[in-house]
Amino acid sequence: MTDVAIIGGGPAGLAAAIAARQRNLSVTVYESKDGVIDKACGEGLMPPALKVLDELGVEQPPGVPFRGIRYVDGPHAAQADFSMGPGVGVRRIALHSALRARAAALGVEVVQQRVSAWSQDENGVTVEGRRFSWLVAADGLQSPIRKRLGLNVDARYPRRLGVRRHFNVAPWSEYVEVHWSEDAELYITPVSPTEIGVAILYHADAKPPVTGSPFERWLQSFPAVAERLRDPSSEIRGAGPFERRSRAPMDGRVLLIGDASGYLDPLTGEGIRLGLDTAVAAIESIANGRPDRYPRSWAKATRMYWWLTGALLFVRRRAWMRRRMVRVLRRAPWMMRLAIDALNRA
Ligand SMILES: Cc1cc2nc3c(=O)[nH]c(=O)nc-3n(C[C@H](O)[C@H](O)[C@H](O)COP(=O)(O)OP(=O)(O)OC[C@H]3O[C@@H](n4cnc5c(N)ncnc54)[C@H](O)[C@@H]3O)c2cc1C
Repeated sequence: MTDVAIIGGGPAGLAAAIAARQRNLSVTVYESKDGVIDKACGEGLMPPALKVLDELGVEQPPGVPFRGIRYVDGPHAAQADFSMGPGVGVRRIALHSALRARAAALGVEVVQQRVSAWSQDENGVTVEGRRFSWLVAADGLQSPIRKRLGLNVDARYPRRLGVRRHFNVAPWSEYVEVHWSEDAELYITPVSPTEIGVAILYHADAKPPVTGSPFERWLQSFPAVAERLRDPSSEIRGAGPFERRSRAPMDGRVLLIGDASGYLDPLTGEGIRLGLDTAVAAIESIANGRPDRYPRSWAKATRMYWWLTGALLFVRRRAWMRRRMVRVLRRAPWMMRLAIDALNRA
């Protein structure tokens, strides 16, 4: 019997597979998509994510370092540097290639298949007719596994969606810039010396100011940025609704990791780090023979993210607070540093 089946070969699933091989567990990853996978993402790897990648032995993918986060609201701006050293802007395809290469070097078996048949019993799990001791669910935001286990909990906040596109333009800031408007935020992440990624997050029910595709429409809410973006270098990709809650990160012999275990919003630039941390925590608990401890380590890895992202969404939903936020942070930059450090220390 193989030790671990992982359904989903995104960052969380591949990280879990690598962590499993590092602990001499046998592992098979099932991923429905072929080859290197692209995905709508802000593509900012925060310092703790870089640390976990290093511990997993993943070669650092090509990218551009950034010092911290800069909020821009019209003429006002506030910024804070990471105290743990820089983050890195990395194209999703570069990150996925690096994770795949490391998994392949450790002999991880990857089966290209959309899993539809799986079940669990007292002694193990069966995935597409094969037996395993444990199942790690890394099947992303929608997570059919979470749904089938009856773990879905209703969302609490209005639905938010995201779109992203890359542009051929030299990064003009050493920070990931987050531009705020009434109903949307626009993220700019440097991903190469000649290219930036632009992700826009918005409320599903809000009316964008002009017509066109969601990306083009929302971009017009940020005229100062829009005029610099002349030459797209990738197609538009979308994702969402973001908020997904799970009653628990575990059910019997199934451990949920990454977005599958619950996600709130990319507003704080988090997601990949949560995927990596929960992947390592799940595998560690299996390797130590104490999978029952996983829910506690999951809570430790995700608590600060849920708290701070929830607080920022609270401010975002109140126009008068949102309008003052950047001005307040500019006068009290320690507040922004404190929040960023708290998130990175989680
Ligand atoms: C607009 C936007 C901006 C973001 N910005 C950032 C950011 O700047 N920094 C950051 O860290 N995070 C960011 N995130 C979040 C980040 O992208 C996610 O948290 C991360 O991709 C989660 O990884 P995952 O492996 O859990 O899920 P995914 O990357 O979604 O991987 C799930 C995988 O499971 C596979 N799968 C699903 N069902 C099956 C099945 N039945 N059988 C086989 N395979 C299956 C899918 O094909 C997929 O490859 C952003 C997200 C969005 C949408």
